[in-house]
Amino acid sequence: MNFRIGHGYDIHRTVAGRPLVLGGVKFDAPFGLDGHSDADALTHAVCDALLGAAGLPDIGHFFPNTDPQWKNADSQVLLQRVISALRERGWVPVNVDATLIAEKPKIAPRLAEMKAALAASTGLPVDAVGLKATTNEGSDDIGRGLAIAAHAVALIRKS
Ligand code: MG
Repeated sequence: MNFRIGHGYDIHRTVAGRPLVLGGVKFDAPFGLDGHSDADALTHAVCDALLGAAGLPDIGHFFPNTDPQWKNADSQVLLQRVISALRERGWVPVNVDATLIAEKPKIAPRLAEMKAALAASTGLPVDAVGLKATTNEGSDDIGRGLAIAAHAVALIRKS
C-alpha cells in the first residue's frame, strides 16, 4: 500500500498575555492560546494528522510538555520535525486539509499567509494545503471565545 490517510484534532484555551499564533501566523489579538509551546492548535492538528497517517504516536509523544526544550516553541519547527520523522520512515506528504474553529479574531484575511507558512514547513506546494476557518456560531466554549480548535486530515505516500 503506497498511500495512508491520517486525522488530527487539537484545542487550546484562550488566555491573556500570550501571542496568538495560528498556522504559523501571529495575529494582533488581546489574547493568545494557553500551552507549553506557542500553542498553535492548527499546526498541532496538522502534525497529528501526518503522524497518524504514518501510524506514529501524537505530538505529545514527540514533543512532551514536560520538556523545557519545547517551552514557547515555534510549532512550525515541530511540524518540520514531524516531516523529518516521516521521511526517516519512508513517507512524504501528498496534501493536508484543515479547518480552524475560532470565534475571533477574523481569520479569513490571513488564510493565504497561514497556507504559505504550512506549505513552507511541510514542503508541500501551496495548492496542496487546504485551509478553512469557521466559527461555532456562539455556541459552546469555542463559540464564547474561550478556546480555539482545529481539525486536519493528511495524505502521505511512500517516498
Ligand atoms: Mg496542542
